[in-house]
Parts: sequence; C-alpha cells; structure tokens
Amino acid sequence: MNCSISKATPTQKPLKIVILGGGIAGLSVYASLKKLNFEVQIYERSSSKRSSGMGFLLLENGLQTLKEIGLDHSFNNISKKLEHYVSFEHSNTLGVSTPLEGVYAVKRNDILDMLLEDVDPKDLNYDMCYDHLVFDEDGTARAVVMTDGTTIKADVFIAADGVYSKVRSDLFSNVLLEETDDHEIVCLMPKGFGTVPPGNDWVKYLDSTAGVNMGMFKLYNEELLWYLQFDKSKHGTPMEMEYGMVDFLKKFTEYLPDSFKDILLKSDPGKCFYWKTKRMDLLPRFHQNNVLLIGDAAHPLLTFTSQGVNSALRDALVLGDLFAEGGRDLEKIFTDFYLDRKDEIERYIKEGDERLEEFSSAKLQGLPLVC
Ligand SMILES: Cc1cc2nc3c(=O)[nH]c(=O)nc-3n(C[C@H](O)[C@H](O)[C@H](O)COP(=O)(O)OP(=O)(O)OC[C@H]3O[C@@H](n4cnc5c(N)ncnc54)[C@H](O)[C@@H]3O)c2cc1C
Repeated sequence: MNCSISKATPTQKPLKIVILGGGIAGLSVYASLKKLNFEVQIYERSSSKRSSGMGFLLLENGLQTLKEIGLDHSFNNISKKLEHYVSFEHSNTLGVSTPLEGVYAVKRNDILDMLLEDVDPKDLNYDMCYDHLVFDEDGTARAVVMTDGTTIKADVFIAADGVYSKVRSDLFSNVLLEETDDHEIVCLMPKGFGTVPPGNDWVKYLDSTAGVNMGMFKLYNEELLWYLQFDKSKHGTPMEMEYGMVDFLKKFTEYLPDSFKDILLKSDPGKCFYWKTKRMDLLPRFHQNNVLLIGDAAHPLLTFTSQGVNSALRDALVLGDLFAEGGRDLEKIFTDFYLDRKDEIERYIKEGDERLEEFSSAKLQGLPLVC
C-alpha cells in the first residue's frame, strides 16, 4: 500500500479533501481539517432542508470534545442539562430519583445547525449522493463518482456516510451489519404536550420482563422527546400491524402506567421515527489507502451506549490533531487514527452488547444510557 503524500512545502498546493456525508461526523471533521488550511468539500445526499432527526443525550465527554474542537459556541442555547433520572417500575408510582451529572438533551437538527455555523457555504454540496470510488492501479482512490455522474478528484476521501455507509460496503464487502432485537420508536412532540412534564428530569418506565422501556425528557425549547424501546422478538414491528404505527403504539399501553400511556395514545404516529438498531464488530482498520471511514460509517454503536454522537465528534478531533502533526503521510495518520480510536470503540461495542444481552434476557436494570 502506498498512500504517502510527501510533506507540504510552502509552495505546495493544499491537500484536497472530500468528505462524503454531512451529518455530525462530516461537519465536525470539516471544522477540524479546514483549520489546517486544507481544501475541504462536503458532499451530502439530502437536500439542505432537513426534516427528519430527533434528538439525543450528549454526555459530558461529548461536550468536552465539542469544546476541544471549538464547536460549542451556542451549545448552552440549544441544550438542556438534565438534573435527575427518575425511573418507574410496576411496583412504584412515585419513581426513584437519582441525580445526574453531565447529561444534556439536544435536538439533532440544532446540533447540526451549530456545526453548520462554521462551514463556508461554498464548501457544502447538498443533493450529492456518493455512488462509487475510482481507483488507480496502485489502489489509491483518484476520484469519487456521485449518483448524478459528477466526478470529483481529490487527494483524500473521508467517508462519514452513516450507519448504512456505502463506502464501507464497497471497501469491506464481507463485514456484517447485524440487525438486533432492540427496536425503537422516537417521537418529538410540541411544547406543552403530555401529562408528565419531566422538567429537568429524564423519566423512564422499565418493564424488563416484557422487554419494554419508555423514556422521555424535554429539550431546551420545552419540546418533549420520548422513546419506546422494545424487544422485537417479543412484540413484532409496526409493519406487522393492520393499522401500522397507530395500532402498534396502542399495543404497548397494557404495559405502561397511565401517564406514559397517555403520551403514547396522544402522540401523532406520523411524527414517530422507527429505528432498528444495528451492531457491527470492530473493523480491522478504518482506512484503505487514501480513503478513511469515520463516525457511524466506521463504527456503528448501539444506542444503549449513548456514545454515537460523541464518538463521531471524537473522530473529528483526533483526526485533526493527527493531520496537524503528521503533515501528508496519510498511511501513518490513518494507522495512528485507528490505533488511537480502536480501544475506546471496542469498549463501547462491548458495553452495547452487554446491555443488549441484559435487555433481551429481561435483566436490564439501573441507568440504560439510551435515546
Ligand atoms: C436523519 C437522521 C436522524 C437521526 N436521528 C437520531 C436521533 O434522533 N437520535 C440519535 O441518537 N441518533 C440519531 N441519528 C444518528 C446520529 O446522528 C449518529 O449516530 C451520530 O451522530 C453519528 O453521526 P454520523 O455523522 O456518523 O452519521 P449520521 O448522523 O447518520 O450522518 C450521515 C450523513 O451521511 C449522509 N449520507 C448517507 N449516505 C450518503 C451518500 N451515499 N452520499 C452522501 N451522503 C450520504 C446522510 O444523509 C447523513 O447526513 C440520526 C441520523 C440521521 C441520518
């Protein structure tokens, strides 16, 4: 493998970097690399108007990473710090409250907007969907071809195209992305909705025997985000119901206390996002020559870990630091990137698997870091 590009001299052209995918990983790595005066372009398959995306919990390490990349400028305005975790079970109607430290509720679109503040609009290309890479005889990628036929040449290609990454399938064709039995429905409802206003609490009901876990919290603008996590092997899917999501949500009311039931029944099923969680073993490397995978494209994580967003941000930070130190030796930078990231990612994969096993065997207790 030869993908070294010799060190830049003052007269040398800046590296041309193409980022495929403009989600959290793509936008944050843009910020890290643009700082180093590289020529960076993002290609995102969706149009500039994003309608989907709910929210998540960002933990203290995620906020710390945002700060280190220098992308936290409006974080206080778009996040809500959650103060308590209140869990309900069959036997308790009041709930058991535990103080929380460093847990922030954030809306996905708000965090994307915050990251977009640092992107030069000329560097962001919407409605551009990756199709395939073109390789030289020595295995170096020379160009990327988009589905509309546009061909873009570059020195480096960074794939941040999410959990179903096509770049990953093209480079690692034998890697298995497994569907798990942990399926989730996430829903964002307007301010004032629901009879259990959680305030600054993260409220959760868990029926581990039935494999049902419903949680909710409010965002900074008082919208309510709820999620219903269920064991698909016990409950099936909305697609199997005659009236789809409407019937499916009703089905869960038998397991839930009244206040939770009310939220399910009054929510607009059209606003519910159905999520099939995926797991994947750690890849043997995240790059092939001058093509690097980052974020969910490199390492999909189960939602139980709450580390998907943080890991994408961390990738951006580490990669920026390595480019700053390593100049243009791509093989070294990408190998060091893998060595730096792999232990942490492996730990999150293991934690996710353990939580999944507990969930499937009805033993999930304590603080499931899920959203
Ligand atoms: C629409 C959407 C909603 C989400 N909502 C939630 C949520 O509510 N809660 C939660 O915890 N996590 C959510 N996630 C996942 C979460 O954002 C990621 O797990 C995490 O932020 C890692 O980010 P990422 O940038 O690696 O992946 P993603 O955030 O998935 O971003 C990948 C980006 O690549 C783009 N893309 C994909 N294929 C191509 C292609 N062929 N060509 C060009 N671009 C491509 C996608 O449109 C997307 O913008 C959501 C992801 C998406 C895409």
